[in-house]
Amino acid sequence: MNQLSDRLNSLSPSATLAMSQKSAELKAQGVDVINLSVGEPDFNTPDHIKEAAKKAIDDNFSRYSPVPGYPALRNAIVEKLKKENGLEYTAAQISCANGAKQSVCNAILVLVNPGDEVIVPAPYWVSYPEMVKLAEGNPVIVTAGIEQDFKITPAQLEAAITPKTKALILCSPSNPTGSVYSKEELAGLAAVLAKHPQVVVIADEIYEHINYIGKHQSIAQFPEMKERTVIVNGVSKAYAMTGWRIGFIAGPEWIVKACNKLQGQYTSGPCSVSQKAAEAAYTGTQAPVEEMRKAFERRRDLIVKLAKEVPGFEVNVPEGAFYLFPKCSSFFGKSAGDRKIENSDDLAMYLLEVAHVACVGGTSFGAPECIRMSYATSDENIVEAISRIKEALSKLA
Ligand code: PMP
Ligand code: GLU
Repeated sequence: MNQLSDRLNSLSPSATLAMSQKSAELKAQGVDVINLSVGEPDFNTPDHIKEAAKKAIDDNFSRYSPVPGYPALRNAIVEKLKKENGLEYTAAQISCANGAKQSVCNAILVLVNPGDEVIVPAPYWVSYPEMVKLAEGNPVIVTAGIEQDFKITPAQLEAAITPKTKALILCSPSNPTGSVYSKEELAGLAAVLAKHPQVVVIADEIYEHINYIGKHQSIAQFPEMKERTVIVNGVSKAYAMTGWRIGFIAGPEWIVKACNKLQGQYTSGPCSVSQKAAEAAYTGTQAPVEEMRKAFERRRDLIVKLAKEVPGFEVNVPEGAFYLFPKCSSFFGKSAGDRKIENSDDLAMYLLEVAHVACVGGTSFGAPECIRMSYATSDENIVEAISRIKEALSKLA
């Protein structure tokens, strides 16, 4: 019996979560798997944030919160946007959700009609096209290969815009490539968008603080863009709080109000205790953020150096986030015993089964010639993982 909706049947499962689950299953069977699949900081949530959550429980923050989140958290986010990004918002322009994932999905669901087009630069985070499909929109994929550092050009954007274009989803620093758009590059895209006032930008800035080239740049800094940009951010990555599930949007009030309406019928406001934790994250010391960023930078340098020594890999130097996205198509068509590698998903499966290293094949990121490795893990794991990968790949002929 399949009584499921067409909407659900057309949806692909999340490849990042699927690979991470597979790696956990193997681990539970006693296999010594190194997990480079899921993208989440390996650090613990800083103590002062945990203390705020404990206090929230004791203070009975146990009721429904306002749908967009407590005013105190939204005010803390307003302050953060002013201080860190130089952007002015009011608390009414902020809506908190159960993670940035829900924030992106809310924005898509309130904007997209069936048949509307949403431009999704590839490589993309696995969930974007699926979310667009959920809204019955059409993802329009614009591909940027490793030779252009995985970043789309203004000319590519211009060519992709049609009268049906509703939105552009821009992720910088990027998952899965680690590429970061510079201010000049964003200005180039903004100049194209200026000619198409119907296009809203969903700017996913969840990796804002994991940046190795200096200050984060938001496309919302251009005055003509601010009124049609929805910034998405949250505490998951910067504060090692993936399980707490707090994300937010900051944007024009008509979109924020719509997200509140949607959320009010769908999930209500996010977890009350997590909101108090997130408030502490934004208002407390930012020292742990910089400490974690430094650790990620050291690991980035390490994995880039080691991966460049793997014959057959073509490696970009990621400028942010915690992913390496090497091109590995030189292995396609090769085999080891009865295993044939046709694409990067086969390669990811081969590496999991032979090297016991979990990576994610590039197909679900819209880049079938690449493979994603998360380096949000210890230096020892990185060294061991790349050494195992190198050995397993050397057996392919
Ligand atoms: N956007 C991107 C690009 C991500 O990699 C993630 C990680 N899951 C998210 C959004 C969602 O983050 P969360 O829901 O944990 O806040
Ligand atoms: N964003 C992370 C990743 O890409 C977490 C998993 C997910 O939500 O997809 O691995």
